[in-house]
Amino acid sequence: MKDLVIIGAGPAGMTAGIYATRAGLSALVLEHNYVSGGQIINTYEVDNYPGFPGINGFDLAQKMREHADALGVVFDTADVRRVERIDGGFRVSSDKDPIDTKTVIIASGADHSKLGIPGEDTYGGMGVSYCATCDGAFYRGKDVAVIGGGDVAVEDAIFLARACRKVYVVHRRDALRAQKSLQDKLFACDNVEIVWDSNGTAIEGKDGKVSALIVQNKFSGETKKLDVDGVFIAVGIVPNSEVFGGLIDQDDKGYILADETGATSTPGIFAAGDVRAKALRQIVTAVGDGANAVAAVERYLNEQ
Ligand code: NAP
Repeated sequence: MKDLVIIGAGPAGMTAGIYATRAGLSALVLEHNYVSGGQIINTYEVDNYPGFPGINGFDLAQKMREHADALGVVFDTADVRRVERIDGGFRVSSDKDPIDTKTVIIASGADHSKLGIPGEDTYGGMGVSYCATCDGAFYRGKDVAVIGGGDVAVEDAIFLARACRKVYVVHRRDALRAQKSLQDKLFACDNVEIVWDSNGTAIEGKDGKVSALIVQNKFSGETKKLDVDGVFIAVGIVPNSEVFGGLIDQDDKGYILADETGATSTPGIFAAGDVRAKALRQIVTAVGDGANAVAAVERYLNEQ
């Protein structure tokens, strides 16, 4: 039986792996994707991780992984489907052989939310995207729209503005949610037009590809057709916590309820990073969570 299985290899999971290995625990990090890093691998520029100003998210993830590898952290890819209690710990079942462990850190992160408007699914991959850094290059010299007003939407719009002819940012309020430094960068882009107080209500296409976004002003009710080739949807995230339902308490959005040490409602199971209910979701807070959770795992194991 292992001391610890860490589910997820984003900044929280990789940090937990580093701390656990340095603490001499028999630990395994299970990752769903073939590339470690979670959401940050799709971030063009990270400007607030101390020591690495302006680093590309993919590069930062690679550095974290190299650091973990150098310390001997053990990783495996697996699609975790269930965690259940067994005598003395937990069984983690996936598409591979089940693993028995005394403790679990859930660091499974979050994924993008869908908007749920007509055309979103129809034109998925044909002009509708959730990742500007992955797909932005296809829209060089073209007009695109970004929906949302948070950090991701504003980062995406800044990134797209470098290559696209015009970028509309469609936001449902009259103020952006994103950090001020990002807003300042966005407002400095000549080819960005913000469509305030408006919702994207439908995505239209021609010849199987996106050709327009319909937006509606929430006060006047007036609708407008934006002729665009791409629609980037950045309206928040949903936690990857579905498979843990019933085992640990979650809030109404599915975020795992845990205290500052990462302890959940089930002794022996800890949560770290974006999957945890908390006030601030950043790389630094994910990294801090990963370290805290391992310290809590050590205390828990010592008390058993
Ligand atoms: P977010 O901060 O939750 O922002 C989501 C945005 O989408 C908000 O502006 C929200 O509008 C809008 N929205 C939500 N539902 C909508 C709907 N149905 N229709 C239209 N608009 C909708 O999410 P995020 O930008 O994906 O960021 C996720 C987390 O990662 C955040 O905690 C963020 O701070 C963090 N993050 C940090 C950095 C960084 O530090 N550099 C970078 C990326 C992400 P309202 O504003 O009206 O609610």
